Amino acid sequence: MSYWIHIARSIDRVTLHKDRCSEVPSTSIGSSSDFWEGGWFDYLDKERALAAMEQAGTTEQRRCPLCKA
Ligand SMILES: [Zn+2]
Repeated sequence: MSYWIHIARSIDRVTLHKDRCSEVPSTSIGSSSDFWEGGWFDYLDKERALAAMEQAGTTEQRRCPLCKA
């Protein structure tokens, strides 16, 4: 199982998702994603995802209510 984080700079929030969450986009990942602008980023384990959330620098950090990551 891998994890995704969604960085949304416009609303100053980062959200943690599980691999299979329906909110995770299945296409066009990566090409338009930029760490500083925001986007979707995948990680091999939860520890790395949580560390990335810390480094995202957004005010709000939350876990997805759908997949309960
Ligand atoms: Zn989710």
